[in-house]
Amino acid sequence: MSQTVEQSAAVYPYRVFDVEVLRSARLSPSFVRITFAGADLDSFADLGFDQRIKLALPLPDAGLDNLPSGPDWYMRWRELPEQQRNPVRTYTVRAVRQAAREVDVDFVLHGDCGSASRWAGAARPGARAAIVGPDARYHGDHGGADFRLPPRGRAFLLAGDETAVPAIAGILERLPGDAHGDVLLEVPESADKLALECPPGMRITWLGRDGAEHGSLLIPALRTVAARTLDGSTARPAVGVLDEPDVDTELLWDVPDPRGVPERAGLYAWLAGEAGVIKTLRRYLVSELGLDRRSVAFMGYWRLGRSELLG
Ligand SMILES: Cc1cc2nc3c(=O)[nH]c(=O)nc-3n(C[C@H](O)[C@H](O)[C@H](O)COP(=O)(O)OP(=O)(O)OC[C@H]3O[C@@H](n4cnc5c(N)ncnc54)[C@H](O)[C@@H]3O)c2cc1C
Repeated sequence: MSQTVEQSAAVYPYRVFDVEVLRSARLSPSFVRITFAGADLDSFADLGFDQRIKLALPLPDAGLDNLPSGPDWYMRWRELPEQQRNPVRTYTVRAVRQAAREVDVDFVLHGDCGSASRWAGAARPGARAAIVGPDARYHGDHGGADFRLPPRGRAFLLAGDETAVPAIAGILERLPGDAHGDVLLEVPESADKLALECPPGMRITWLGRDGAEHGSLLIPALRTVAARTLDGSTARPAVGVLDEPDVDTELLWDVPDPRGVPERAGLYAWLAGEAGVIKTLRRYLVSELGLDRRSVAFMGYWRLGRSELLG
């Protein structure tokens, strides 16, 4: 008697996709868009908003041979001796074209001091990499997206530096058509202004640093816009001392659930970028302006002077 054993492989929220560079397009002085192709990308979930991924880069000798796959890839990757570990960095999915088996990622070129920036600046068609990204065959919550749609009517304040431009672009594309508010984007150069799709009620302000310090334009711009939007409507006085992490040793990250915040909170803020700058922005909104902390999502995407530490 013959027996047929049906084996269905388990599906997890995320998986490792083998990819190679299909093309690289310079969008502006500081941004390059890399289009990845991969045989399995037809099952890469197109979730939009600020969906993040991990990008693993080849090692000079071993390429991607050491990169573990499967749901425990991260634990096994961490257990490898450092010199055998592929560099892994966090990026945002900029676009997914399942039928064409393509995924776009927009990289900030910040020089050769970082593995990912160096790799992106030099990547040519055919260069191999791996993306740990959401698996469309999984039907639950994939995780990895931090934007939460607040109750309707609230004004949005989306603010970030160049590393948050892809995430904010993804959020703007999927906001409801009647969304209104401000977007503040601080980028390395004035010429880094990109064309972004957004609802008509969202006003985008590009702030080119052109040699100035990180945050030196974003911080005053956010103060002006937030004060104007709230215009005294947060009757609550400042909350005093905030529970703030040390951005040099801890992750600066909090994504509270905005539902349940009273209507008078008036504003929903989503902030991402250099951790020290984001900490200052959040402190201003919550401690000084008195915005309900559940109305402020904040994420330190990177830290000046420190390599991305995946802990
Ligand atoms: C959820 C999330 C989504 C992100 N999405 C994107 C994205 O779509 N596109 C993108 O470009 N980045 C994105 N980032 C930021 C990116 O992960 C970091 O910039 C990362 O450090 C780049 O890795 P690297 O190997 O180039 O530099 P690292 O090896 O991590 O750092 C080397 C040095 O470069 C400095 N450095 C790192 N990034 C920058 C920068 N942007 N400008 C100036 N100096 C820097 C560090 O302080 C350090 O001194 C995202 C981060 C997170 C957490």
